[in-house]
Amino acid sequence: MKAAVLHGKMDLRVEEVNKPTIGPEDVLVAVKAVGICGSDLHLYRGTWTIETPRIIGHEMTGEVVEVGEKVSGWRGVQGSQSSPWSAAGNATGAKRTP
Ligand SMILES: [Zn+2]
Repeated sequence: MKAAVLHGKMDLRVEEVNKPTIGPEDVLVAVKAVGICGSDLHLYRGTWTIETPRIIGHEMTGEVVEVGEKVSGWRGVQGSQSSPWSAAGNATGAKRTP
């Protein structure tokens, strides 16, 4: 899969990365579209710092393509997520769309 990986100030590269593995309470979302947040610009411009290399971006929409063993009712669901700086992490703010 491809991801935008920040390597340092104004050094953002679209690269092939391994597909994330999910835990029992996680879902894996195939990203369909993204937005660029002001925080992404701060990270890109180096006015905010973050450990690199790092996949940035957190405002996206997509489809749930895998669910952990403890997750039910989310496979195939399309929705949006906003979770600060987590490529594979907490999906706070995730919402299902009709
Ligand atoms: Zn944002």
